[in-house]
Amino acid sequence: MAYLTLKNINKIYPNGYHAVHNFNLDIEKGEFIVFVGPSGCGKSTTLRMIAGLEDISNGDFLINGNRANEWGPRQREVAMVFQSYALYPQMTVFDNIAFGLTLQGVDEDVIEEKVNHTAAILGLTDYLDRLPRALSGGQRQRVAIGRALIRKVGVFLMDEPLSNLDAKQRVTMRSEIAQIHKSTGATTIYVTHDQTEAMTLADRIVVMKDGYVQQIGTPYELYYDPVNVFVAGFIGEPPMNFIRGTVTGGRIKFGDNELDLSRKLGSKIKDYEGKPIVFAFRPEHIELGKIDGAYQLTSMVELTEMLGDNTNVYVTAGEDKAILKVDPHDTPEIDEQITFSIPVESVYLFDGETEMVIK
Ligand code: ADP
Repeated sequence: MAYLTLKNINKIYPNGYHAVHNFNLDIEKGEFIVFVGPSGCGKSTTLRMIAGLEDISNGDFLINGNRANEWGPRQREVAMVFQSYALYPQMTVFDNIAFGLTLQGVDEDVIEEKVNHTAAILGLTDYLDRLPRALSGGQRQRVAIGRALIRKVGVFLMDEPLSNLDAKQRVTMRSEIAQIHKSTGATTIYVTHDQTEAMTLADRIVVMKDGYVQQIGTPYELYYDPVNVFVAGFIGEPPMNFIRGTVTGGRIKFGDNELDLSRKLGSKIKDYEGKPIVFAFRPEHIELGKIDGAYQLTSMVELTEMLGDNTNVYVTAGEDKAILKVDPHDTPEIDEQITFSIPVESVYLFDGETEMVIK
């Protein structure tokens, strides 16, 4: 039996807005689950329904197999970390972390031991006497996490916890959160709009769009086996290239290049004749030059971006465009004509009408 179960969960706000549609998910103890998707897709709403901060309009929420829809946050044994930290400004770091235990009337010796233990995990030992205003954003976020962590709850809920940090702090804090999860083993549900955070932190990712779950899977599955154009384009940076066209004689065009789709689909391509199709490949799955047996495409270099470990090359062919990731030592010249190859197994085809992957 799963630890947490969301069965056909829906949220319809009092104004009639249907924010979450038939959300289904089983979460095992200790898993790190990330909800990811563009702003407004229903991630926070779902998290808040799990937290007990928002009513579930219909569907079942189970904890250890028991229906928990009507349980309050305390009975659910969840702790939530918000993006705003929500620290008490007049209280020291120690008192902020201790707050929940103090309210419960826990023994002072026990509180002291627990706060010290939590502070040590979070690298806050030297800051326990400080007020929040004398801390960096990353340290404040660690205090907020500490306050949730100390309660030894069953589930740890985090809503965009890194969004108030600068880019560098975000990367540091991201690995700290991964470390904390590793050392505590706490079941965690984490909301973000950032696919890199999702990919690096999650055991499993739930990709959402417009209130609907698009796909649930490990980072590996979402990257290599996306079910539709949305997931394929959302996971990966720079995003996957999509070439749209109508199948004519089993082919579509990229500029003047003819892409023979039967090489990917075999005789099944007949079903798509005259229909829209999407030919897709990741920027990092190409090689410059001609490789036997691969799709070989000729294009013009419009722009190059040297990023250190790789160069992003923006190419055009007629009206069509693509981004290629190449070794910086092989960076082509702007306006140069180049040929690149895509191994057949690195090509994805999607139905142009349904946007679903074709296998
Ligand atoms: P996300 O966390 O993915 O950015 P939210 O879950 O916050 O998205 O919101 C999902 C949708 O529900 C949005 O369109 C938002 O405007 C709407 N929404 C959020 N809260 C309310 C509310 N209290 N009343 C009506 N609509 C809401």
